Amino acid sequence: MISTRLRVLENGALEVVDPRVEDLPLLRDIDPEFEVITDPLPGFETPRFQTMRRLGSGFSDPEIQEMDSEELWRIHDVALRGWMSGTSSAKSESEVSVLALKLELARRILRSCTLCARRCEVDRLADQRGFCGLGSKAIVAESFIHIGEEPPINPSHVISLAGCALRCRYCQQSDILFPRKVRGTYLDGQFWKHPDCEVARSLSFVGGNPDESLFGILGFLQSAPIGWALPIVWNTHAYSSIETMSLLNGIVDVYLPDLKYSSSACASSWSQVHNYPQVAQRTIVQMVDQNVPVIVRLLILPGHLRCCHFPALQFLASLPTRPRVSIRGQYSPDWQITSSDGAMAGRISREEVALANNMAQSLGLDCIVS
Ligand code: SF4
Repeated sequence: MISTRLRVLENGALEVVDPRVEDLPLLRDIDPEFEVITDPLPGFETPRFQTMRRLGSGFSDPEIQEMDSEELWRIHDVALRGWMSGTSSAKSESEVSVLALKLELARRILRSCTLCARRCEVDRLADQRGFCGLGSKAIVAESFIHIGEEPPINPSHVISLAGCALRCRYCQQSDILFPRKVRGTYLDGQFWKHPDCEVARSLSFVGGNPDESLFGILGFLQSAPIGWALPIVWNTHAYSSIETMSLLNGIVDVYLPDLKYSSSACASSWSQVHNYPQVAQRTIVQMVDQNVPVIVRLLILPGHLRCCHFPALQFLASLPTRPRVSIRGQYSPDWQITSSDGAMAGRISREEVALANNMAQSLGLDCIVS
């Protein structure tokens, strides 16, 4: 059953959290002028993963199985270079596709898991669990059409996956952080029946976080209907491994990374991760290099303008190809936040959001404010 999520703000106003297509009548009862905002998605023609499915790796399945992982990575990188230079060819009957090659590499990573930058190195195929608590399969906690995403991807059919490598104390999805407690279903081919392509303009993998479920997601994409034509969106915490970002090259059509902190001390205090700024910045550079739209989300945290958000904006402005920035003012002191957490115990002020927005504008960044 779909239920509307409401939050009461300090001024008594009601906020609809993650509005769904089913909430439209309610939203229009409250505000008859309410509109679902959309914008064109520049440069998108066809989902990249469908191309990876058609391209050949040059090797058969028995040959791939005999190779060590180093050799497979070499073949993968050669295949991607061929795709980027337009010299690759369609797969023959006996060949493994580039998508299937990526799936095999993701499977091997699970043997000593480095799917995210926690690098737990546990054997998830043998059901060992690392920090995210996931086994080998992706678990869908919920799936619905979101009508409040950034305009170039809105409305988006979101597949929300259990498990995450971070532990943000203010997490708004804490009920899906611990996969063993989530009453979800495994991500499999049946989910292709759900997205309403008349309404949805994209398919988003969210969570929790999707990186940790990459193996399950690639398997799911391999079972897509041949004519599936919506862009794939990767909505991630950006605490991503280099390997995962390489496998996502040629799969993702739009990246929607967070850039949560610029201070390691803040990352450690609020999300239990010490090297977040370096990893997230590296991840965003890898995303931009893939030549797809990148929209970096900045959830403005109370009291973190100078330590985290201003330096984050300066970093984004320093990139040779600048991503768009989505400045979010929806911070809420959820989950483990208590009254002893200082500024983080309150809501974000309009002034702080406006200051972040002004800074972004003054740096010449292309901003989406929501
Ligand atoms: S996905 Fe990340 S958190 Fe989960 S087991 Fe692998 S390295 Fe650890």
